[in-house]
Amino acid sequence: MKIIDILEKRNMSLSFEVFPPKKESNFDSVKSATEKIAALHPAFMSVTYGAGGGTSSYTLEIAKNIRDKYDVPTLAHLTCVSSSKQTVAERISEMKSMGIDNVMALRGDLTPELEKSDPSTWDYRHAIELVRELKEAGDFCVGAACYPEVHPDSVNQREDLIHLKEKVDAGADFLTTQMVFDNNLFFNFMYKIREMGVTVPIIPGIMPITNANQVDRAIKLSGSFMPQRFKSLVDYFGNDPDAMKQAGIAYATDQIIDLYANGITNIHVYSMNKPDIAETIMNNLSDILGKDFL
Ligand code: FAD
Repeated sequence: MKIIDILEKRNMSLSFEVFPPKKESNFDSVKSATEKIAALHPAFMSVTYGAGGGTSSYTLEIAKNIRDKYDVPTLAHLTCVSSSKQTVAERISEMKSMGIDNVMALRGDLTPELEKSDPSTWDYRHAIELVRELKEAGDFCVGAACYPEVHPDSVNQREDLIHLKEKVDAGADFLTTQMVFDNNLFFNFMYKIREMGVTVPIIPGIMPITNANQVDRAIKLSGSFMPQRFKSLVDYFGNDPDAMKQAGIAYATDQIIDLYANGITNIHVYSMNKPDIAETIMNNLSDILGKDFL
């Protein structure tokens, strides 16, 4: 099933993101965690592509396994900036032969080696090139990334939004945001991009922070703004792992309910291969999920 068809439905739904193992020895435990999440039957699951392509072969294997065993639609991520045209062509052909037809087209982060090298020698500079290639290569439903708090490589939001519009015009069928901890930032962003004429569905990404150590890492990776309300919660409960987990899940659930109540029907949860967190969030929303309130 194509992700765009799921997004166009009016019922409230959740999707979950999982990541593949970094080493082969972790494959079985990651596979089992992703299967437990799939058994909850979210609207779809996305499987990330290791930074620099490190765990690339497992992405497709995990995506196919979830879809075949649990009938949960999957979205396979693919990055391009660290890859050659040939590698990307090989991945696309593997996807076709595995029947994977939902792809998240990403640039990937610039590695220190790439940053030192001459960009004119790279096969890819931006995700838009991958979006175009996927659209030319077959009947793929293509997602792309967007940044309510501006991508760190952009000089300003206007530039970032102009390039985002180009990416959508090149064929991106939907957008998923970088994690946001303050829904107002998401609503402001939606307003701006709708004003620019971007009409595709935009899925907000919510990251449940369930231990205090995650906070610094999440801010460093995403550059996301942490509201004072959230900081207070970490200050107060951060030293008690069980309390922090419960409070972090409650915060994420509250964000999700606020998004639903403002007409956003699908929300993507960065579930970090944690079935218990995915399950608790789904249970918290059990009388909301699946219903059409519009
Ligand atoms: P782009 O769309 O290429 O944008 C990157 C920067 O370039 C932006 O500043 C943009 O404004 C600018 N830009 C875009 N087009 C042009 C142009 N034509 N000319 C000049 N400037 C331009 N990383 C992984 O390694 N694996 C994953 O699985 C993964 N999944 C992700 C999922 C989501 C939902 C998100 C939000 C991010 C994900 N990332 C992943 C991280 C992502 O790869 C990085 O944020 C990366 O730095 C940018 O990728 P992009 O696809 O947004 O790039």
